[in-house]
Amino acid sequence: MSMPNTSSQASGSVALVGAGPGDPELMTLKAMRLLQSAEAVVYDNLVGTQILELIPQAAERVYVGKEAGCHALPQDEINALLLRLAQSGKRVVRLKGGDPFVFGRGGEEMDALRAAGIAVTIVPGITAALGAAASCGFPLTHRDHAQSCVFVTGHLKDHSVALDWPALARPGQTLVFYMGITGLDIISDELIAHGLSGATPAGFVYKATLPEQRFVVTTLTELAATGRAEKIRPPALIVVGGVLNVAQANSDPRA
Ligand code: SAH
Repeated sequence: MSMPNTSSQASGSVALVGAGPGDPELMTLKAMRLLQSAEAVVYDNLVGTQILELIPQAAERVYVGKEAGCHALPQDEINALLLRLAQSGKRVVRLKGGDPFVFGRGGEEMDALRAAGIAVTIVPGITAALGAAASCGFPLTHRDHAQSCVFVTGHLKDHSVALDWPALARPGQTLVFYMGITGLDIISDELIAHGLSGATPAGFVYKATLPEQRFVVTTLTELAATGRAEKIRPPALIVVGGVLNVAQANSDPRA
């Protein structure tokens, strides 16, 4: 394990740190250590309040929140902010929900910082799909149901969907859509049109691993209607596949 940069060099450093899906106990020890020694923390709305309580009092906090469809701060301004904080000599933690490299735009932030000569460390986090699978009790792969698992963005701009539907509709896999709540109709229509049975189990996990978690299972045909009836909002995942048939929630969610 390397210690954070404590030398008095002019340029600071940035750690892109995965905060996990919400439950603070699902953060890594490394994430925790870097957070507790941070001089500036830049975070968004997927990082829960319990995790924010771990930030030292003296550290500068900057919220760059991203609600679905409404970016509080555009990505290039976030990049510029990280650069400015690092160049002022601070040990910066860029705290991101889940894992920084899974639909987290961590790659873009890393590129921008490295291009400017800033030292960047990446600390992985438990991505939402893994948190959801564990706390709702469905395996992502299973000898009888799924030989592969695909994480896919459901952030579908207008109706020109650039997803590989024939590949996604193949049997024997688990699909986990991130950011898909606004595209429920397209997702179920396209998967069925490309050959997946309408009876395939499909469901939602809202706020996985947090006390407000909700897990709703339906079928692919009923996905959009159920999502609306249950008022599912972001942050939520859509899960499609036979593995949902074996779901057994953790008997003690705090265990
Ligand atoms: N880097 C994050 C993903 C960011 S994209 C990760 O690895 O988890 C944002 C999307 O992640 C949300 O729209 C939602 O689909 C999903 N998400 C993040 N946290 C979640 C949670 N606790 N429960 C359910 N979905 C979550």
